[in-house]
Amino acid sequence: MSEEAKAAELVVRCDCGFEARGDEEKLIPIVQKHGVDAHNMQVTREQVLAMARPA
Ligand SMILES: [Zn+2]
Repeated sequence: MSEEAKAAELVVRCDCGFEARGDEEKLIPIVQKHGVDAHNMQVTREQVLAMARPA
């Protein structure tokens, strides 16, 4: 319940070389948009989180 845990930075690296970072709420829409724009692929919130690593 600390501030640190809330603001955890995550990074997602796509196979194509695309990289996005930010906290969960910021990262998920960015990665979802990239999936559709670049790969014509719908990505769920769970899939984004499965791909994410601590930044
Ligand atoms: Zn990609």
